[in-house]
Amino acid sequence: MSAGIMTPGIKAPGTYIEEVMTKVKSKNPAEPEFHQAVQEVFESLRLVLERHPEYISEKILERIVEPERVMMFRVPWFDDQGNVQVNRGFRIEMNSAIGPYKGGLRFHPSVNLGILKFLAFEQVFKNSLTTLPMGGGKGGSDFDPKGKSDNEVMRFCQSFMTELQRHIGPDTDVPAGDIGVGGREIGYLFGQYKRIRNEFTGVLTGKGLNWGGSLIRPEATGYGCVYFAAEMLKTKKDSLEGKVCLVSGSGNVSQYTIEKLLDLGAKPVTVSDSNGVIYDPDGIDREKLAWIMELKNIKRGRVREYADRFKKALFMPTDMKLDHNPLWALKGDCAFPSATQNEINAKDAANLIANGCKLVSEGANMPSTLDATKLFLEAKVLYGPAKAANAGGVATSGLEMSQNSARLSWTREEVDDRLHKIMIAIHKNCYETAETYGTPGNLVNGANIGGFLKVANAMLDQGLV
Ligand code: NDP
Repeated sequence: MSAGIMTPGIKAPGTYIEEVMTKVKSKNPAEPEFHQAVQEVFESLRLVLERHPEYISEKILERIVEPERVMMFRVPWFDDQGNVQVNRGFRIEMNSAIGPYKGGLRFHPSVNLGILKFLAFEQVFKNSLTTLPMGGGKGGSDFDPKGKSDNEVMRFCQSFMTELQRHIGPDTDVPAGDIGVGGREIGYLFGQYKRIRNEFTGVLTGKGLNWGGSLIRPEATGYGCVYFAAEMLKTKKDSLEGKVCLVSGSGNVSQYTIEKLLDLGAKPVTVSDSNGVIYDPDGIDREKLAWIMELKNIKRGRVREYADRFKKALFMPTDMKLDHNPLWALKGDCAFPSATQNEINAKDAANLIANGCKLVSEGANMPSTLDATKLFLEAKVLYGPAKAANAGGVATSGLEMSQNSARLSWTREEVDDRLHKIMIAIHKNCYETAETYGTPGNLVNGANIGGFLKVANAMLDQGLV
């Protein structure tokens, strides 16, 4: 590691962190999710800065919280009635110290600059942990694909890509899917990119198998999250066999989390969407999972319909007046939050712990509030933070990029094997880093520090850019 351009006057780590955090809040007002993500990483970095004053003198924290570039743009499109609709599009290019920007696109009405900045910030450390050369980025729109026809989704995607295409490329910035962006949306986005640029390249990941996609990419986030859980349990000489598992969401990550849990002999008992929670005491078996996949991916229906089809299941509608989510008040050995940010608050964490939950592996990004995370760590729950536990998705996107560059495709077994090995390596890195920095078992510190060091050192090596 090079020393970089040293500046005089090194502050104490605690003071430095507080000063930078204050600046982050004042320079980025009304972005609570971004503040939360930065705060969590900074708390872990106190330990690092004590050993590495060069990160303070080189102002690495000020630099790492500032996106390299932010694009915000108008996305006009016609709905099926011929009315003009206007949405807002974004791409945050957060950090390219270790590779091209890489991170998903989210289409959801809640999308705003602060949410995408939190996701892009998390992505920087997550991508670093994967062991692959990928920088961090994130993007999306406040467009809501729910209730839209395929033609409306296509027209929106084409308009969105008409602007986005000037900023991305296979060696610059490679977007993928996230909430509201699955195979259908990636197809329309890729089609428009190819049409405008007249080039067939790996500019997006999550592509269809016939046109450059990778086997296992759709499954990767969920499978990876379960592989990570299995690694955590191994440290206690335990396994997922027979474990009752609470899974939230019913989209891409949830579906393949449930599939891999079934492969490993566990018993998933819940799914949810924004309208409510399904609890199936008999367990969601393969037949029921296939039914959910058809409901969500083809019919684009709501989970409440599960209780009409499978009579023993209970549907609990979302009640915004509740101070907790009833899903996390159910009895389970392991929890796999796979819907969205901050879906587990302190009350939910307390409910899980009181009901004997021994493991939380985060499929969604930042699903636990800072208070909930603290409770899990204090209670010595095996806690796999999102940037480690759900990194299998982007890792397999990295494998898709490699296959595209080499113009070949690997078998299902080969990709799954690489994914599995990457998840084992990520867990090992987090586990050992937590020990090295004097907080054994704290994978939050392990992930934040492990992810940070590689990026920070690359930034030092590359000078003040
Ligand atoms: P999908 O759009 O496929 O599914 C999202 C699921 O979460 C849906 O069931 C959705 O319900 C529910 N959900 C979304 N927002 C809310 C909300 N505000 N309140 C309650 N439920 C909500 O997305 P993914 O499965 O791809 O993503 C889920 C999470 O995993 C996100 O946090 C994402 O960032 C993260 N992730 C995804 C990766 C991937 O490869 N896809 C990679 C790494 C992380 P409804 O249909 O009602 O909106």
